[in-house]
Amino acid sequence: MTHPFDLTGKVALVTGAARGIGLATALALHGAGAYVYFGVRSRTPELSEMMEGLSGRGEILSLDVSDADSINQGVETLLNRSGRIDILVNNAGIVKDGLMVRMKDEDFLSVIETNLVGPFRLMRHVLRPMMKERYGRIISISSVVGTTGNPGQANYAASKGGLVAMSKSVALEVASRGITVNVVAPGFTETDMTRELSEKVREGALARIPAGRFGLSSEVASAVVYLASTEAGYVTGQTIHVNGGIALV
Ligand code: NAP
Repeated sequence: MTHPFDLTGKVALVTGAARGIGLATALALHGAGAYVYFGVRSRTPELSEMMEGLSGRGEILSLDVSDADSINQGVETLLNRSGRIDILVNNAGIVKDGLMVRMKDEDFLSVIETNLVGPFRLMRHVLRPMMKERYGRIISISSVVGTTGNPGQANYAASKGGLVAMSKSVALEVASRGITVNVVAPGFTETDMTRELSEKVREGALARIPAGRFGLSSEVASAVVYLASTEAGYVTGQTIHVNGGIALV
């Protein structure tokens, strides 16, 4: 049976694809037929083993989004090997939480560098080859807190809100070139990032989620696959919120 959003023949890059939402997204794009580059900052034997089960349509790409040289090298390697890039998923992200009055410059800047400057550099790099093909899908993983704000996450919320505003601007720049630029904003999702939350914070979060549970990485990945599809060609500059109803925006 063909996938409802068939990505056969498309080349995709997902950053931070070693685990969590990035891994689920890379596997979902692969499941829809795409050739997927799993962008990771460090290779593991488990990941290499996983590639062997991907029918020759998946490979690991060294790519640290906080490092401009690594981005250049990673994207150039991909373009040399595949000759094109159709889908970019900016997923890699970090948190360094703390109240504003105590937040160090380094904690603010490193979150912005990884979560916002990295996606900027990646988008800039892939736009030229996408324009040449007159086709492209750029999807960035933001967060519900990029819209609502969250105490203790001024740096993270700024980076995630910035992703939305940046994506809207780029969407308008390239809409006539067959390229769409969109955002997926998850709420609380079961990954290592949320497993680090204290039991108290977790309980408090659960009480606020109308769906009564955290989301799954695969549920975020499904929204990405839709936005990556040719069927979503008339959707651009948008944010799909995958948050169990915790914020209706
Ligand atoms: P995660 O489990 O902590 O995984 C983050 C991934 O990003 C890891 O694979 C990590 O690589 C990678 N990464 C971090 N810094 C990197 C860098 N400089 N270069 C390349 N890769 C880097 O997080 P997640 O929950 O899957 O989150 C994925 C995205 O969703 C993030 O942008 C996050 O902000 C967003 N998000 C998550 C939630 C949630 O509840 N989980 C909610 C809203 C938004 P290593 O394996 O090498 O550490």
